[in-house]
Amino acid sequence: MVVMRTSVDPAAYAATFDDRIGEMVREAARRSPAFAARLAEAGIDPSSVATGDLDRLPIQSKDDVLALQHATPPFGGLLADDAQPRRIFQSPGPLYEPELTAGDGWRWAPALSAAGFTAADRVLITFGFHLSPAGAMFEAACAEIGAAVLPAGVGAKDLQVAACRDLQISAYIGTPSYLNALLEAADQEGVELGIERAFVTAEPLPPSLRDALQARVPVVRAGYGTAETGHLGHECDEVDGWHVPEDALVQICDITTEVARSDDGEGQLVVTLFETGYPIVRFGTGDLSAWHDRPCPCGAATPRLRGWMGRVGDAVKVRGMFLHPRQVSQVLAGIEGVAAYRVVVERADHRDQLRVELVAGDAPADLTDRVATAVQDGLRFRAEVRLVDALPDDGPVLVDARTWD
Ligand SMILES: [Zn+2]
Repeated sequence: MVVMRTSVDPAAYAATFDDRIGEMVREAARRSPAFAARLAEAGIDPSSVATGDLDRLPIQSKDDVLALQHATPPFGGLLADDAQPRRIFQSPGPLYEPELTAGDGWRWAPALSAAGFTAADRVLITFGFHLSPAGAMFEAACAEIGAAVLPAGVGAKDLQVAACRDLQISAYIGTPSYLNALLEAADQEGVELGIERAFVTAEPLPPSLRDALQARVPVVRAGYGTAETGHLGHECDEVDGWHVPEDALVQICDITTEVARSDDGEGQLVVTLFETGYPIVRFGTGDLSAWHDRPCPCGAATPRLRGWMGRVGDAVKVRGMFLHPRQVSQVLAGIEGVAAYRVVVERADHRDQLRVELVAGDAPADLTDRVATAVQDGLRFRAEVRLVDALPDDGPVLVDARTWD
């Protein structure tokens, strides 16, 4: 009998961390003065913290960590006195990131294995060192798998094409756009590359680019992660969303309340790791995503994210609630008779006002009423709906026109 396993739901996935969270928080608070101070400020007793208690800890953004590092250089008081960094990276900001965990410390090996990478592969890594972590992260993951690495970075494509041919490079790690450029360079030189699989990240992978790559490289799998947190998600053979890792807690948090959600609504990707010498707890990536609404038939042990859905910074806070351009499009794009639209946020009498501006197509008479109802139901805001003759081409769908003088 074949038993079809399906991945767990987001709440059950979060519960798998219950045993580890309490121990990590206790130990991290003991070792890291800045983390202990952060818990104290939130009124959280480090001696007994469960996964659900994390919701009470305000999300820490990259800007928050930068401010700590500026106030207390170089690591903001987060690095334990007895911690021994193996590497130190500088990512844009500049933000300094100590690497403490030995081996595959950024945990990418499972993502590569899911893409079919094995010890038999010879891997071209086109991420660089150049202060930032990506090259080193993936080199460590390949070492974990046992695959040989050609550490290439970007540039000198003619030399890279020759090396891929001469060394029978079988796998690629880097951005999808650079893989495309490399394949084009090979074409120009009349070289047939034997790359059988590619793991791409750090850029969106639109369907057109995926199709172009898959015409030449049989297996193309995308993943998601950040410089501060490493691997946070990867595709399986279903190629429909990113399975989150088993060894890092990835949460989708409501952007207004910051509470972790287990439904399929949008929110910020928030990460908690288990290295106590430099605690990364409730770290806000600034990226938006949502849980996939269906379990995955592949049998992986973790739920899937639906992919990258924008930046939290694009959201506008209206009457205390965040409104994201994507939500505006979701509500207005499908309404019959709407040819173009935008939402303008203004301020009158010290109160935020929402106005929907519409260009009507073949407008039925009740268009403004239907739009007002859709906005009230979908965005939970009452809005004035106004028909206009035209809107700017390619203008933003959400305009913050408030002034605060
Ligand atoms: Zn799957």
